[in-house]
Amino acid sequence: MPPLLEIRDLMTVFDTTRGRIKAVDGVSLDINSGETLGIVGESGCGKTMLSLSIMRLIPGNGKIIHGEILFSGIDLLKLSEEEMRARRGSEISMIFQEPMTSLNPVFRVGEQIAEAIRLHQNLPAKQAMELSVELLREVGIPEPQKRARDYPHNLSGGMRQRVMIAMAMSCHPRLLLADEPTTALDVTIQAQILELISELKQKNNMAVVLITHDLGVIAQAAEKVAVMYAGKIVELADVETLFAKPMHPYTQGLLESVPARCFDSMGGENYLKVIPGSVPDLYDVSQGCRFYERCSYAMEECNRSEPPLLEIDPGHFVLCHKYGEGKNN
Ligand code: SF4
Repeated sequence: MPPLLEIRDLMTVFDTTRGRIKAVDGVSLDINSGETLGIVGESGCGKTMLSLSIMRLIPGNGKIIHGEILFSGIDLLKLSEEEMRARRGSEISMIFQEPMTSLNPVFRVGEQIAEAIRLHQNLPAKQAMELSVELLREVGIPEPQKRARDYPHNLSGGMRQRVMIAMAMSCHPRLLLADEPTTALDVTIQAQILELISELKQKNNMAVVLITHDLGVIAQAAEKVAVMYAGKIVELADVETLFAKPMHPYTQGLLESVPARCFDSMGGENYLKVIPGSVPDLYDVSQGCRFYERCSYAMEECNRSEPPLLEIDPGHFVLCHKYGEGKNN
């Protein structure tokens, strides 16, 4: 069965007075129904722009200049704005870090979910409201009938995120884009929200793209992981392989900076490592590897030419000259 979503050589750029920025640069990915793909990387690596590109909601002067986004075999980039609008919120939904950016503070949450339902399904108001309460129940909100009458500010951060998820699920999307959905929440609530997304994914055979800077979230919720750096995917693998055998120096650095890795098998404490430097200014990217300035394995060749994305093992892709032909791994 073909993947639900196939992204091919996608390029999203921003033209500014200082020049052109390639925020998403030649990204290719597949996602199957019932699968969670985690996209991880530091701020500014392009992960949010990738999800906004899938939704065709690129802000400001950004535009997609190359590639395909095939959703059930149909290229979303070829749809009219009206056709695309019909897919947003029905077949493809998105949730964000801060639910208040999507919830209207002056309307009760039940009304807002009912409104989302009515937007895509031709239902009478009473029926939409009943469905809204049902959805609140489904996302684990206690006393949903009562909570439906609350305003967003009456609810805790975790409850607001559940409302946001209820709204996103209101039309049974086949693809859910979740951009840092748990970053603003404390650890216990974070685990509950990830569990909820996972349950809804299984129940609805939905595909999930989970965007995060947190490898702990990836370990808990994703089956496949794409590591992004400066607009490019630098490593792609299933989650077990990525954690057991990270190959790109950037992925290795990310994993070494996770607190859980500070303790070795003998119980001794290691020092947390940090990746030196920061993500390059995308105006300044050279023709070579974008991680060159921060990489302790950098070779002369790395500054001269961009590495190709190589399949090192089946399903494990790495963008690094270290693994090029004739190189010692
Ligand atoms: Fe480091 Fe070179 Fe690999 Fe880039 S291509 S990550 S600089 S070894």
